[in-house]
Amino acid sequence: MAIERTLVIVKPDAVAKGVAGRIISRFEEAGLKILAAKMVHLTKARAAGFYAVHKDRPFYESLCTFMTQGPCVPMVLEGEDAIGRVREIMGATDPAKAAPGTIRREYASSIEANAVHGSDSPESAAFEIPYLFSTPEIFPRS
Ligand code: ADP
Ligand code: MG
Repeated sequence: MAIERTLVIVKPDAVAKGVAGRIISRFEEAGLKILAAKMVHLTKARAAGFYAVHKDRPFYESLCTFMTQGPCVPMVLEGEDAIGRVREIMGATDPAKAAPGTIRREYASSIEANAVHGSDSPESAAFEIPYLFSTPEIFPRS
């Protein structure tokens, strides 16, 4: 058990639906602290770089287009086992397979438009947090 930081994005589908606040509340209710948050409309190049790990997957192009269809809300969350706990609260990638009560089960529209992103490992978080936030945008809290 360790205090971790993770990168969460409320994706453009969830912002467009007007459920960003409800999604953010799920994380706050779980005791995770918001250290950083903003609204951004990603460019295609910025989305492509963020998801570069998926560049050979068949859904890559479509994913990058989806992530640029409107503004999203990236955040840095911190807490005990934050990376794994955020993944549990989010649910499986495919909302049809996501457990009842998870964000994706409740708010995702499809396997692509699935409402939320969360870093999948400490290595991913270490890449994703500085990809979207500069140090002065992150507010350490006790
Ligand atoms: P996760 O976000 O659960 O970590 P992945 O890292 O496998 O999932 O995929 C990144 C994102 O790509 C997903 O959240 C989803 O938006 C999209 N995606 C994943 N698999 C598919 C697919 N089979 N078809 C379309 N989009 C997909
Ligand atoms: Mg992933």
